[in-house]
Amino acid sequence: MSIQITFPDGAVKPFDAGITALAIAQGISPGLAKKTVVAKVNGQLWDLTRPITADSKLELITRDKPEALEVIRHDGAHVMAQAVQELFPGTQITFGPSTDSGFYYDFARAESFTDADLEKIEQRMRHIVKQDLPITREIWPHDKAIAHFEKAGEKFKAEWIREGIAADAEISIYKQGEQWLDMCMGPHLPSTGKLGTAFKLTKVSGAYWRGDKNNAQLQRIYGICFANDEDLKNYIKQQEEAEKRDHRKLGRALDLFHFQEDAPGSVFWHPKGWAVFQSLIAYVRKNLIQNGYQEVNTPDMMDRSLWEKSGHWENYGVNMFTTARDEERVLAFKPMNCPGHVQVFNQGLRSYRELPLRISEFGKVHRFEPSGALHGLLRVRSFTQDDGHIFCTPEQLLEEAVVFCRMTLAVYKDFGFDDVRIKLSTRPEKRIGDDALWDKAEKALADSLDSLGIPFTIFEGEGAFYGPKLEFVLRDAIGRDWQCGTLQADFNLPGRLGAEYVGDDGAKHVPVMLHRAMLGSLERFTGILIENFAGTLPYWLSPVQVMVAPIVSDADGYAIEVRDALRKAGIRAEADTSNEKITYKIREHSLQKIPVIAVVGRKEAEEKTVTLRRLGSERQEMLTLADAAQTLAAQGMIGG
Ligand code: ZN
Repeated sequence: MSIQITFPDGAVKPFDAGITALAIAQGISPGLAKKTVVAKVNGQLWDLTRPITADSKLELITRDKPEALEVIRHDGAHVMAQAVQELFPGTQITFGPSTDSGFYYDFARAESFTDADLEKIEQRMRHIVKQDLPITREIWPHDKAIAHFEKAGEKFKAEWIREGIAADAEISIYKQGEQWLDMCMGPHLPSTGKLGTAFKLTKVSGAYWRGDKNNAQLQRIYGICFANDEDLKNYIKQQEEAEKRDHRKLGRALDLFHFQEDAPGSVFWHPKGWAVFQSLIAYVRKNLIQNGYQEVNTPDMMDRSLWEKSGHWENYGVNMFTTARDEERVLAFKPMNCPGHVQVFNQGLRSYRELPLRISEFGKVHRFEPSGALHGLLRVRSFTQDDGHIFCTPEQLLEEAVVFCRMTLAVYKDFGFDDVRIKLSTRPEKRIGDDALWDKAEKALADSLDSLGIPFTIFEGEGAFYGPKLEFVLRDAIGRDWQCGTLQADFNLPGRLGAEYVGDDGAKHVPVMLHRAMLGSLERFTGILIENFAGTLPYWLSPVQVMVAPIVSDADGYAIEVRDALRKAGIRAEADTSNEKITYKIREHSLQKIPVIAVVGRKEAEEKTVTLRRLGSERQEMLTLADAAQTLAAQGMIGG
């Protein structure tokens, strides 16, 4: 029997039923077959060696594609599991998925895996890759699978099938070579050789069967895995670089902030860290004012009923902190500022003449995060957003998106982030709001970027059920991506919370709401900045911008005078009148990444001058105190 295969370019060709994607690829070119690691049949990932039995759309996925990487990584987990079982008989396998950077697999074994074991396992994996064992898929009936795993002493697998999979379901089994097999949904590579060499085992940690602490304890071995050696090498380098820049380490060394167990996931800001944080706020506030925003402040705790109306209680309740103060009322700490802003909008009767209304708030929100997920400033339980909401008519969406995108990209530039990727997520299948409104909103978001000449990528169907959105992803100095800004259209919340305005037709309408943030969480953004700049923040963000350092104690009095004059000019200045030698002072304050050291001696005191040394430069410049104050104050203006 013959079947029709449709290729991505639209070409349709007949093949014998039962043909594999691998055979089709080989027919096109052996080079292509070599590069291809998996197929997509009618949009579904499909083993290259799995027969295609009906008319289908076929896409060959080559090694360089993101979908390929997932399959390669999942194979890494399987090859590792085989290696472990060959080296350590009696070890039971459970599950092992791919991750963002590689894979892990959870094993049940009485003895602990050591670092030396990891090395042996990795060697064995390389051996299995070299053997290029064929990976084959079989379908087993339920009872055969249980019987097999029971006989093999794999009680976790047997339990999973018995309790987790319907008795009439067929179980797909993947074999590597003749002996080793695992139950798996697949897909997998056609043979172990296709895994390649770009993997490395990194660590062992504890895990529990089915993620439940009451269950058996397992050992999880992690690996990193990439499509080619170059990518692996770059990743390792990036990790090493990231470790050196770890904001938690720098935060301690530069005395910026700390965490302690009494307040899990909440920051204790020290004076220097808070100075950075406040500089961010001042800078963002200036931009918001210039772009027509009005700043508000709304309550941290509001009644449960409001959160029920907004839908947060139902959809987000598990992440919300509540009070137990009063038996009759439950108040919840805001996890988002939006419902509060709608309350501000709802005061008084709004007219279309007041739209667009741009409201901003440096609102502190509280969200539960499991303690294992907390990570310095990057993942906390309470944080401050540079949040804002725009209430407007559908016709105003385009202009609002233009204003926001222009401001946001200019802001990123001021921080030195030039490499920004923008994603547009469009309507999902399950959604509210009529298609005309979706058309308008999606077009507004796309047109705004087009009109500014900014490229973006469309993520079809990935929008929220209540509206399309833009996401802004920054690439940092060592090539890591951080999603920071968002512009999210919302056709849902204003209506739920009774927001309306009187249109020029005299009738009442529900406004469209835009949720928007540029930096996102200011705590997280501070962490990103610290890592991006490896602690050496730009002058305008530095907690101490100028350190006045007298050469001799005779100049101490003048040093204080200089410090005060600089402070008066709005500069964050300190003076170091300790008894240390000037070389020591310069070294110390350079280590503290203070951008400018103002050296003063007897001569400077007599002439009312200062000698400025900038961090990372040998050059010195002598200025009058008045000129220095003026110049340094002007340089602090970049951001605000
Ligand atoms: Zn919002």
